[in-house]
Amino acid sequence: MTKPTQNPQAMSLAIASCPGTVIAVQANFYVVRLDAQGGSEPMLLLCTRRSLLKKIGQQVMVGDRVGVERLSLQDERGVIVEVLPRKTWLDRPPVANADQLFLVFALEEPRLEAWQLSRFLVKAESTDLAIGLCLNKSDLAAAPKQTAWENRLQTWGYDPILVSVQAGQGFSGLLAKLRGKMTVFAGPSGVGKSSLINRLIPSVEQRVNRVSGKLQKGRHTTRHVELFALPTGGLITDTPGFNQPDLDSSPEALMQYFPEIRQRLTQGYCQFNNCWHRDEPGCVVRGNWERYAHYLKFLEEAVALQVVRSQTPDEESALKLKITQSGQREFEPRLESKRYRRTSRRSDHQTFQELVDRQSLDNLADENLEDW
Ligand code: GDP
Ligand code: ZN
Repeated sequence: MTKPTQNPQAMSLAIASCPGTVIAVQANFYVVRLDAQGGSEPMLLLCTRRSLLKKIGQQVMVGDRVGVERLSLQDERGVIVEVLPRKTWLDRPPVANADQLFLVFALEEPRLEAWQLSRFLVKAESTDLAIGLCLNKSDLAAAPKQTAWENRLQTWGYDPILVSVQAGQGFSGLLAKLRGKMTVFAGPSGVGKSSLINRLIPSVEQRVNRVSGKLQKGRHTTRHVELFALPTGGLITDTPGFNQPDLDSSPEALMQYFPEIRQRLTQGYCQFNNCWHRDEPGCVVRGNWERYAHYLKFLEEAVALQVVRSQTPDEESALKLKITQSGQREFEPRLESKRYRRTSRRSDHQTFQELVDRQSLDNLADENLEDW
């Protein structure tokens, strides 16, 4: 057996490649922000993916750290030749390597509501990212109310940053938390999340236009994700507003998503190591803490979901919901097995994605990029 020889071309590419972060993706095109070198403005390149990466099925996501080979020093185009292993991975929005998730809520209009906030926090915790909390519209809440919420949330295990986009208050504290990190913003609609993001990056529109005219088409689709660089350092991205996140974790996972429970379990042990902290004897978690009622309610949901999941495969595979031409909902017997169905859905999706990809390649070809 001969030892595999090193590919000299690959070596030279690896040496020549510049490190950067993918900040936007559309179909097979990527905008990469090269790491700043010696105080100069970071450069943005419009890139394709090296065909070898395509062949081995290496996907490239927003947030990926990549090595890029530039086509020439003058040209703002390049080829992604390497994707570094991901530190973190989020599905919705699809983002790699995010460091933290910041929830944005308003103190008033809409009024801050403990249950809703708690739900978002639990959902946020399930991403395994560090969690930040930003309470906007502080101009609408009197000082004692602000302090009361700060204290209350501290007992939940969070340290909120109060801001007012309208009054321009609280930004230095927020920017300090965002510096040097990749942050995903999320929150219900109406809390001022878009206003906040626009305020953080006043030049969003110009920046995008300058960067990637080619990627404009997909910008307003729901799956479109884009990272924006803060002038003070750090990258941020937005998620479309949603009001009531689904909690889909198992009961065992759920308890990890409460800082109060984590903290109690560092200080003591429940008598049973599979304790659900309801009415088991010798439980160190059960007690008089504010969100214990939230925990019990979410646990109920998690248990119900677990039961549904354990019963679903048979029922689901027996009947299929069909919408008739007149819009009626009808159940009809299902023929294929669930496993088969899953695979077929995935391949449908792939075909769809391929079509989308091909479509945008055609569009780009129309724009005289054939020679690239
Ligand atoms: P989003 O749905 O979370 O993106 O919220 P928007 O950014 O669209 O803002 C919703 C409303 O809240 C708009 O009418 C904003 O002008 C208003 N708003 C945003 N920030 C503040 C603030 O700090 N104080 C007050 N009073 N209103 C704000
Ligand atoms: Zn317990």
